[in-house]
Amino acid sequence: MPPYEYILVGGGLHNAILSLAILQRRPGARVLLLEREANLGGNHTWCFHAGDVPAEAMAWMRPLVAHRWSGFQVRFPNLERGWSQPYSAITSERLDRVVRQAFAASGQSEIRLGASAARVDAHSVTLEDGSVIRGELVVDARGPTVGSKASAGYQKFVGVEVETRAPHGVLQPVIMDATVAQEDGYRFVYLLPLSDTRCLVEDTRFSDTPRLDRDAVRQSALAYIQGKGWAVERIVREEHGVLPMPWQAGAPSEAPLSSPLPAGYAAGWFHPATGYSLPLAVRLALHVSGCEPASVFGAELDRLWSRQRSQARFFHVLNWMLFNLVEPRERWKLFARFHTLPEDTILRFYAMRTTLGDRARILSGRPPQGLRLRRLFEQAHEI
Ligand SMILES: Cc1cc2nc3c(=O)[nH]c(=O)nc-3n(C[C@H](O)[C@H](O)[C@H](O)COP(=O)(O)OP(=O)(O)OC[C@H]3O[C@@H](n4cnc5c(N)ncnc54)[C@H](O)[C@@H]3O)c2cc1C
Repeated sequence: MPPYEYILVGGGLHNAILSLAILQRRPGARVLLLEREANLGGNHTWCFHAGDVPAEAMAWMRPLVAHRWSGFQVRFPNLERGWSQPYSAITSERLDRVVRQAFAASGQSEIRLGASAARVDAHSVTLEDGSVIRGELVVDARGPTVGSKASAGYQKFVGVEVETRAPHGVLQPVIMDATVAQEDGYRFVYLLPLSDTRCLVEDTRFSDTPRLDRDAVRQSALAYIQGKGWAVERIVREEHGVLPMPWQAGAPSEAPLSSPLPAGYAAGWFHPATGYSLPLAVRLALHVSGCEPASVFGAELDRLWSRQRSQARFFHVLNWMLFNLVEPRERWKLFARFHTLPEDTILRFYAMRTTLGDRARILSGRPPQGLRLRRLFEQAHEI
């Protein structure tokens, strides 16, 4: 019998969530979590809406939540709207601590940091140092790779977390403040008030290109802060990222039939229109931790994967329209209109649980001004 029931490769968001689910729902299971860095979870702040995580998963998700708000807002030149729906954030620091504690408490499971996988096979992982570890189920979630794709736009951002000398006055997250100058595609600022005097300010662009000029975008974020009149005591930390917003599936179309299980962002378990993957990590974790390792593959995983593919196809269409049909400076209008839709439709959009009615609502309405008509004709000709 192999020494581990589960070998989880990559200690990022997905395998952290999966390991917590397994440790809680399958007490006694022997889990090995491999991470090449010195800490788990990298340098991120992951947010989610209440509807993204089913109640049954909250038992093991709750300890990860570092901040929770009772609502969130959006701001556009022609619209301000707020929702009384909980919004939560997980920080890398918190994730690292909670996952380490859960492994320490389990007795028989183990985290190996600084362990880089060179080869991932069905029932074994070979580390860079040549050692081979065996397990019954291997889950491969080594994270996204950023590269230029022919069929994608890009979400790129630089976030600065600042400590202010006086309360900054932001009471709830602002998930899009698009009252800013439109540059490099659709531009908005994302505000996460972490305390009265601490705020994560993320300057984000939905752009045609993956090139991120970190210095320039950081300066834009700092200029936004200055525009608000906040006196900054210090910059606490910075995070940045470039995430593809594809309009073609890059991942396999069929669910895997046997170990290793490709998981996480790299295997297509993400939302094509937001770059978020937490809701899907929870769904996969519920499935994997709900059965024996040998029963993970089969009809239920197929169903889960085909629901994910079907939702993703709809978001691919939206991405294609956004990046191919609408002039960059006009893109904000699509998002402003989207945020006038009924609350349930918006929440199901973020959770990747859209219904046919939601899709009709999202796609209906007047076409935005600034359609790239020439592009439309070119595309139609190609089709
Ligand atoms: C700055 C930023 C903010 C984001 N915010 C959100 C958000 O709010 N909500 C959301 O859902 N998504 C967010 N995302 C998207 C995010 O990338 C994914 O949701 C999530 O981190 C993907 O999880 P993952 O486990 O697949 O990959 P990751 O979290 O990237 O984890 C992969 C892990 O594998 C490790 N690894 C890689 N190669 C090896 C190897 N050979 N051997 C061992 N370990 C290895 C890496 O070091 C890393 O720790 C954000 C992304 C960025 C860049």
